[in-house]
Amino acid sequence: MPVSISALFASIDARRDDLVALTRDLVRIPTVNPPGRDYDACVRLLAERLARSGFSTRILRAEGAPGDCDATPRLNLIARREGARPGPTVHFNGHIDVVEPGEGWTVDPFEGLVRDGRVWGRGTADMKGGLAAAIVAVEALTDLGLPLPGALEISATADEETGGFGGLAHLVEQGYFAPGRVDHVIVPEPLGVDRVCLGHRGVWWSRIEMTGRIAHGSMPFLGVSAIRGMADLLGLIETELLPKLAERRTRMPCVPEGARAATLNLNSVHGGLDESDGDGLPAPLVADSCRLVIDRRWLVEEDEADVRGEIVDLLDRVKAARPGLDWRLDDLMSFPPTMTEPDAPVVGALDHWIHRVLDRPSTHVASPGTYDQKHLARLATRLDCVAYGPGRLELAHQPDEWVGIDDLVASAEIMAAATLTLLGVETD
Ligand SMILES: [Zn+2]
Repeated sequence: MPVSISALFASIDARRDDLVALTRDLVRIPTVNPPGRDYDACVRLLAERLARSGFSTRILRAEGAPGDCDATPRLNLIARREGARPGPTVHFNGHIDVVEPGEGWTVDPFEGLVRDGRVWGRGTADMKGGLAAAIVAVEALTDLGLPLPGALEISATADEETGGFGGLAHLVEQGYFAPGRVDHVIVPEPLGVDRVCLGHRGVWWSRIEMTGRIAHGSMPFLGVSAIRGMADLLGLIETELLPKLAERRTRMPCVPEGARAATLNLNSVHGGLDESDGDGLPAPLVADSCRLVIDRRWLVEEDEADVRGEIVDLLDRVKAARPGLDWRLDDLMSFPPTMTEPDAPVVGALDHWIHRVLDRPSTHVASPGTYDQKHLARLATRLDCVAYGPGRLELAHQPDEWVGIDDLVASAEIMAAATLTLLGVETD
């Protein structure tokens, strides 16, 4: 017999206050990262709740991960509920950390104020509201009391805001996403209640160091200036590379529109001696070193070796034109772009239920920057994974962050119904 969707949605509507209360409870635990505070209280609250709902739970500490110590342990929760018979596993992953509140708030960032149909506070949108909605969605499903196939999983992970190495990456390393264990993944990041986020552009951070030869500043012709070499490189980036990158358009539906091309940011440049070292007077020296950090965002149409190669080509040209100059390049971080195809099962299931619940078609988007999907994209077997959640992206990391209560409830309905579709359960 098909499952009654109206019964499922009525059950979620009846949990509206509970969903708001869970969101508030999570916001009131100030899991600010860095440094990664209060993860313990947060994973414990979720573990106790999910255990009451029939999930087996495990708390895992990512020992040795960046920032992990006894004062700020990197703690992660994984909760699983087996179905009545074999079938696919649907997994929801939410990060529990939030960024520092910063200035400009007109409400208490950690109170979880409810006003004007919204829950206010740090992490309401990014992404404690989404995590709460996913939890209420799976609880409503299991409370139907039906013999569902497969398994339901929830993970609540640390450190997404600082790269996720002590969080989702740790669960991946521990084999929780090994082939055959998980089939479909939804990450309730704040992409919007009617948008499905297929993936993100790649990222490559690198540090370039130019080295020259020191000399007296009154006789610069005796030295080799690393700053002049760096100026050559910056000139080539400006006049040759940036225009080329801007022309490289992607089929990824990145938002905002400007992110539908390859981009490069100059994060920092430092050359020569620091003038604050000598009572404010500059040292009369030819700079023998100059450092640049770049942030290159790349597209599914690009190749990682080429992304690196086109910087190396420019460096070689600069070096060839200035005898005595040399360069070194250090990779700081690299993740490839990832995009789940628009015809993938998880996308189709969410599209269908977004349309039915909200009475408007969904929009496919891709993120300009990475999020935890990057750790799943490195797996040998490609997972059926997207980000879908109730908050609004433009409110993330802002003062007076909020999530709409209607959006929380609608997203919980959409996640619950999409889970049934992904489990292969017939609905009316
Ligand atoms: Zn987030």
